[in-house]
Amino acid sequence: KDSLQAQLIRIYEEANRFYHQVLTQTQTGEKALAYLHERQLTDETIEEFQLGYSPSQRGALVDYLKGKLEDISYDVLVQSALFIETQEKELLDRFSNRIIFPITNHQSETIAFSGRHVDLEDDDVWIESSGHPPAKYVNSPDTPIFNKSDTLYNYAKARAQVRRQEEIYLFEGYMDVIAAWQAGLPNGVASMGTSLTASQIRQIEKLTDKIIIAYDGDSAGLQASDRALDLLSKEYFDLELVLFPDKSDPDDYIQKRGSESFLDLMHHGRLTPTGFYLQYYRQNRNLNNESELLEYIDQVLKEMVHVASAVEREVYLKQLADEFDLTIDSLKDQLSQIISQHRHQKIQEKYADKNTSSSLTQT
Ligand code: ATP
Ligand code: MN
Ligand code: MN
Ligand code: MN
Repeated sequence: KDSLQAQLIRIYEEANRFYHQVLTQTQTGEKALAYLHERQLTDETIEEFQLGYSPSQRGALVDYLKGKLEDISYDVLVQSALFIETQEKELLDRFSNRIIFPITNHQSETIAFSGRHVDLEDDDVWIESSGHPPAKYVNSPDTPIFNKSDTLYNYAKARAQVRRQEEIYLFEGYMDVIAAWQAGLPNGVASMGTSLTASQIRQIEKLTDKIIIAYDGDSAGLQASDRALDLLSKEYFDLELVLFPDKSDPDDYIQKRGSESFLDLMHHGRLTPTGFYLQYYRQNRNLNNESELLEYIDQVLKEMVHVASAVEREVYLKQLADEFDLTIDSLKDQLSQIISQHRHQKIQEKYADKNTSSSLTQT
């Protein structure tokens, strides 16, 4: 008999086939398919990503699986986490009335789903029964075959392209990965709605050392970019970022401005981390106010501590000097002060580490 893992993968593969068939070949899936077409996804893309639709009849999936997988026990079906088990031991589909995004492992096997809520059925029923509107996305919980923090969406498909092009795009959402693929960028991945984990970074590291962060242009996306830069600049990555205008995300941008404009932005509109911070720290700040301006400059210079290239530093210092009518020498002075403070702090941290570890060995 197959291992538990192998059985679970068979269940997920079957479930994916079911959802995909419902979306593409049944009347039940018509509205969901129209929704995806309206979001400008082509049939080829829907096929490529094996998107699906889970019908609102919450028993449909288990009925289908029982017919296909006669040797699988009730207990293993429960462990798949595809279902919500009722007190009467009924298995109800966790994702009912959602668009299904299959999530795959490195071997391209389906190991989890994310389901996007769509306004196809009567939402009032939901709100009345649970007291709140449904979440936009629901992910499979962790199971013996799926660990959210080890998984990057689209990794298996993107892998070969990342190696060939020697760079990877990091997106925030599944729809961004898919829309970018359709627009001609096949080397994009997304984390699972959380910030990057060490394990995800290890997986990227195996493929390339060049990362382009292309998160959403809203304030949550900018904050996530800042966090990703902090995490990734500890490793030896070559990092660039793309900012999307008017709080839009990559998918919004493609729908509004088209694939060509998107590709142009992704290739020629990239910022260095310092270029990003020059914009980022401007948010919600009035730079005509002297103390806010000084704070802004201090924050930007602090980020420049990590810039190894003297020429790159010079370029940004000149830019700041010109914009705010300062001398480049005064900015240079302040930057070297910040750099020496930073070094001093590093040395102290190292010293403190040593002291604690030696006192540990003594006792
Ligand atoms: P869409 O374009 O379909 O509205 P999106 O990808 O733009 O989707 P965002 O709101 O930008 O959606 O969220 C980005 C990502 O965060 C999603 O792709 C998903 O992985 C995750 N996410 C969003 N909402 C939730 C939620 N309620 N629960 C879990 N994850 C979520
Ligand atoms: Mn198909
Ligand atoms: Mn988004
Ligand atoms: Mn979006």
